Amino acid sequence: MPETLSTQCCVVGGGPAGLMAGFLLARAGVDVIVLEKHADFLRDFRGDTIHPSTLRLMDELGLLDEFLRLPHHKAYSLSAWIGERQYKVADFSSLPGKCNFVAFMPQWDFLDFIAEQARTLPNFRLLMKTAAEKLLFDGDRVRGLSATGPDGELTINARLVIAADGRGSLMRDEAQLPVEDFGAPMDVFWFKLPRKESDPDESFGRIAPGRMLAMIDRGAYWQCGCVIPKGGAEELRAKGIDAFRESIARLTPFLADRVDTLKDWRDVNLLTVQVNRLKTWSRPGLLCIGDAAHAMSPVGGVGINLAIQDAVAAANLLSAKLRGDALSDEDVRAVQRRREFPTSVTQAIQLFIQNRVVRSVLAADKPLEAPLVLRLLDALPLLRRLPARFMGLGVRPEHIEM
Ligand SMILES: Cc1cc2nc3c(=O)[nH]c(=O)nc-3n(C[C@H](O)[C@H](O)[C@H](O)COP(=O)(O)OP(=O)(O)OC[C@H]3O[C@@H](n4cnc5c(N)ncnc54)[C@H](O)[C@@H]3O)c2cc1C
Repeated sequence: MPETLSTQCCVVGGGPAGLMAGFLLARAGVDVIVLEKHADFLRDFRGDTIHPSTLRLMDELGLLDEFLRLPHHKAYSLSAWIGERQYKVADFSSLPGKCNFVAFMPQWDFLDFIAEQARTLPNFRLLMKTAAEKLLFDGDRVRGLSATGPDGELTINARLVIAADGRGSLMRDEAQLPVEDFGAPMDVFWFKLPRKESDPDESFGRIAPGRMLAMIDRGAYWQCGCVIPKGGAEELRAKGIDAFRESIARLTPFLADRVDTLKDWRDVNLLTVQVNRLKTWSRPGLLCIGDAAHAMSPVGGVGINLAIQDAVAAANLLSAKLRGDALSDEDVRAVQRRREFPTSVTQAIQLFIQNRVVRSVLAADKPLEAPLVLRLLDALPLLRRLPARFMGLGVRPEHIEM
């Protein structure tokens, strides 16, 4: 017989959306179980950006100083390189308050930190190595789920299941929620290269005809994301790893002395980019948040923050009702009403950049001219406040209300 657990809220997925939702709900007195299918949070493919909106939330929770004691790198501005010319794009230092920078921190450190805070709460349980498999229904209403953990099968009865299981969400498939797909012209090759003391000390992006490279400073190494045309991985692999190494060295000459640390294609992971959104984020007994409700493009590096903003909105709107066993379907639908506008505006801007900038860079075979908007941003410091606000705080930033 599977072991049976009961809880007020079962959250599927220990990513930014799921862990934050679990922590905030438990902090507000709700009994919560979070399931994460992996044994730890050490996964390379995660983005590393903690934006000012999330730093502000940490401040509101009284955790900012402790959080910033973790190793991180502060970025007060963002630039793009086209050929040998640097263009300033965003100025985060213009944002009001002390959280006027992006903290680059490995996402597993951020998730470990949140999990550590949550574990101090008696009504929070985090089950690692536990994969949700099927939703359980009472008629049309989700009443819980079945899962497999280290000790075998589990049945979890819950008043509400929150699906925060990312872009490949099994829970949203189980719930048969229709997805609107917006497409993406690119995928990403994800790999590491050693970092040297003499290297530039900021994360940045390089753009050349047919190629784009984002580099995240992770201390001892650069985490690199090379943007490639959608579906183009096989063709590039067929040309051989030497050709790929050369293309990286041509794009970023200071890496030429170490591209041979990429021994073969096993050192280069393919991340497929998706942009989509559920038409309906919930059904009775179930709510989708984060990438499970809306897979975000890597453009602007805002997916983690949107996922966290959903978690805050869900906790603000639902914790009192869950705690008092008074949750209605209408309460759950209110989360989509709150978060759909910021999500759709953000995705619209990402799609514009993907389709107008990324697509033409990937198709280009002649030297690129910087687009007018980039030249204006570089020339007019005041204008750089706009992208800083969009990327750093986002549309309709949430605050802790519990
Ligand atoms: C190439 C690329 C680069 C990106 N870079 C950035 C960036 O720099 N900054 C940024 O803000 N965003 C970035 N993004 C977007 C960002 O990664 C996502 O928007 C964000 O991770 C969404 O968080 P989430 O918690 O909703 O989902 P996820 O981070 O995907 O977390 C889902 C969690 O659920 C777990 N899970 C899945 N299924 C189950 C199951 N059945 N049972 C139990 N657990 C399960 C997974 O193991 C995972 O831990 C990038 C995206 C791509 C594709």
